[in-house]
Amino acid sequence: MLRSIEDYIPVVGDNVVSNLHRKASRIYNKHLFHLNSTFVGGGVAEILNSLVPMKNDIGVDAGWRILHGNHAFFDVTKKFHNMLQGGDLTVSEEELKRYLQVNEGFSKYTHIDHDCVIVHDPQPLPLIRFFKKRQPWVWRCHIDISEPNSALWHFLEKYILRYDLVIISSDEYRKKDLPVEQRIVQPAIDPLSDKNMDLSDDEITQLIADANIPMDKPIMTQVSRMDPWKDPEGVLDVFLKAKKQIDCRLLFCYEFASDDPEGVCIYNRVQEKAKDLIDSGDVLFVVGNNDRLVNAIQRRSNVILQKSTREGFGLTVTEALWKGTPVVASRIGGIPTQIQDGENGYLVDPYDIDGCADRVVEILKNPSLNKQMGHCARESVREKFLITRLLGDYLDIAHYVMT
Ligand code: UDP
Repeated sequence: MLRSIEDYIPVVGDNVVSNLHRKASRIYNKHLFHLNSTFVGGGVAEILNSLVPMKNDIGVDAGWRILHGNHAFFDVTKKFHNMLQGGDLTVSEEELKRYLQVNEGFSKYTHIDHDCVIVHDPQPLPLIRFFKKRQPWVWRCHIDISEPNSALWHFLEKYILRYDLVIISSDEYRKKDLPVEQRIVQPAIDPLSDKNMDLSDDEITQLIADANIPMDKPIMTQVSRMDPWKDPEGVLDVFLKAKKQIDCRLLFCYEFASDDPEGVCIYNRVQEKAKDLIDSGDVLFVVGNNDRLVNAIQRRSNVILQKSTREGFGLTVTEALWKGTPVVASRIGGIPTQIQDGENGYLVDPYDIDGCADRVVEILKNPSLNKQMGHCARESVREKFLITRLLGDYLDIAHYVMT
């Protein structure tokens, strides 16, 4: 359903919306576009789905283009993703060539006469090399690149240098030796999208029943792409420990992103490891390709886990906090900017299975303790992590680079 900017007034108030109109007025009729590599799956697509129509509604001409990748290309870029996050891998000359060829090929399908270009993540990063640059280009990097593989960074840096600005999600990701200006913009969620809107109890119950999720035991859930950095196997270990102390179920709400070919392999590994528990019905897998279902799962779960070992920001954490559901998440990447331990959720060491299980059990055994924390959680998101704030940040940046 298409929303207008006024629909956000009841959630964020008059001042926020009036301020957005003021910011937009500085760049009326400017024409810009976002470019990424998938329209479905993962946090970037989630954000662009809301952000692009909001920009258009407020008077800025905004588009969204998708790089035409293929399986072989996404194999390479997923490797890049893992190496930039510190994974111990190597890329061949052949793979680097494939990466550049797909970008060069895409340049033949698109022409750019816009006032500003915003490129998301490493997949379309070198596209800038294949155009005569006539406008500011911004590279928006969503992942944790604090300790990248140095050979790969060296290869990519020459393309990054062509950009006018780099956006990162956290001060810790700032590259000290990169001469391009870097700005921090934290991601955000759309409180009115199907993923985050309020749902009635009846609708939640219906969605949960339609997905065949039994509610006779407490449920701990991780909502994530099947990805090694989301550590689904570690989630299983936490569950095994917790289950010794309280009878409960584990729900993996998962999806595959079209630009992430690694998902099926991880999925098969987790299925194999959880085989007996799947047979006994204590470990469930639900495909989260329906936003209202994900919304209902995040609301009805007794605890949401995000046991990532690397995380750019972690929108799944924001989504759960907004719903007031207790969250236990790793002290990693952008998660500690969202959670103040013990106030609006719990932070754990990403490798401390026992500590994580203890927190989960504490929450499952004391449902009444969680009310106040849930209220704090929702207000913390209202204050800092709603899409209206993100829209304002992007309007500021577009104005900044275009003037
Ligand atoms: N997501 C979903 N269904 C799933 C799993 C994930 O819709 O089964 C969504 C999730 O709700 C969130 C996004 O995908 O909006 C994941 O963003 P996040 O920043 O947590 O991680 P990323 O996948 O970008 O690394």
